[in-house]
Amino acid sequence: MTTKKSAALFTKAKRFIPGGVNSPVRAFKSVGLTPRFIARAKGAYLWDVDGNQYIDYVGSWGPMIAGHTHKEIIQAIQDSAKTGTSFGAPTELEVKMAEIICKLVPSIEMVRMVNSGTEATMSAIRLARAYTGRDKIIKFDGCYHGHGDSFLIKAGSGAETLGIPDSPGVPKALANETLTAQINNLDSVRTLVSRFRSQVSCIIIEPVVGNMGCIPPQPGFLEGLRSICDENGIVFIIDEVMTGFRVALGGAQQLYKVKADITTLGKIIGGGLPVGAYGGKKEIMQIVAPSGPVYQAGTLSGNPLAMAAGYSLLSHLSKKKTIYTTLETMSRMLEDGIRENMKKLGLGYQLNRVGSMFTLFFTEYPVRDAGSARMSDTKKFAAYFSSMLEQGIYLPPSQFEAAFISAAHGEKEIEKTIKANYKALRAKVVSRK
Ligand SMILES: *Cc1c(COP(=O)(O)O)cnc(C)c1O
Repeated sequence: MTTKKSAALFTKAKRFIPGGVNSPVRAFKSVGLTPRFIARAKGAYLWDVDGNQYIDYVGSWGPMIAGHTHKEIIQAIQDSAKTGTSFGAPTELEVKMAEIICKLVPSIEMVRMVNSGTEATMSAIRLARAYTGRDKIIKFDGCYHGHGDSFLIKAGSGAETLGIPDSPGVPKALANETLTAQINNLDSVRTLVSRFRSQVSCIIIEPVVGNMGCIPPQPGFLEGLRSICDENGIVFIIDEVMTGFRVALGGAQQLYKVKADITTLGKIIGGGLPVGAYGGKKEIMQIVAPSGPVYQAGTLSGNPLAMAAGYSLLSHLSKKKTIYTTLETMSRMLEDGIRENMKKLGLGYQLNRVGSMFTLFFTEYPVRDAGSARMSDTKKFAAYFSSMLEQGIYLPPSQFEAAFISAAHGEKEIEKTIKANYKALRAKVVSRK
């Protein structure tokens, strides 16, 4: 596999862009490689500038659930572009978009569109603070909620990979307002709530953690958080930027039968264009400007091109409900294949999966929180990643990121991936023991 053109572009990119990339994990730093520059994509496949083909398990970090360059979505974008790309005035499509979101996620009665997941979570905590008149927030070790100042405390993924648990530039005074609890540990939450009783505005969580690798919630955990919030007048924010329309059409809230006060959305909701949203109870959402005093705005919010892409994907997903059963079948096939491979090789690594989100952790201990995820052998992961990439399988370049399967992944792609997995585990991992 030649990677000459990617290597040359990366060298040039580093002269003009910090680290050569516009988002840190893309740089392949934690796996000690140079990134592949992508030229085009279709269905389950990516092609880099050197002409190498890959089966894609990143899916633009989540949005491409229907596969790349999906016909309906591309058509919707093209049609919309012809009628104008931005007006800075309301459009009918925004109303349709808000309506479909409220229909698909029942806890959302009203919704505001923004341009990224980061914007959605930043706005959601401002709203929770305003609504409760309290300043502190509780987040969980390893959960990532975008790069807002309040969240860059034990923030998983990029920060985890690069070993910057707290970013410089975050004011200490603000960091003090962020309390950190442990995933799947209700006592850690109760301790914080009783200590800071009347100061906690909200609890924000990734309902299935994806940004520490895939970590599902233990039975009763999300329900327990719901009760703690109810008992203490705390706003429960479920950050479904990754899980929304991914783990089920109604997101993790449908899968685990739990309701948020505020839900944040991103990734899939934009169909591959930059979109985020936050929504929830009418009583809370109504205090957002201009109907209320909580300021939040955006020049390009509800952008017609982005709405066209997002609306087209959400409509497609809601019309074709079999997508989620197909995703489950394909994902299970991959899971079974990888487990079979590990059995043959006598390996006991942890495979966590929820629907079409999964992570193979290079540790033999169950991964159920940030501490256990950090037990993973990242050197082994890097060797594994490199072998998979060489075999044309494009995984997230970090042990602490979830991989995604799309509706365009069929048996052929899954079988090829299982074979590559066997080779990678045998050659790169067993021999290094
Ligand atoms: C990706 C992600 C975000 C941030 O979204 P951006 O669009 O990258 O700003 C927030 N929360 C979760 C759970 C995410 O996975």
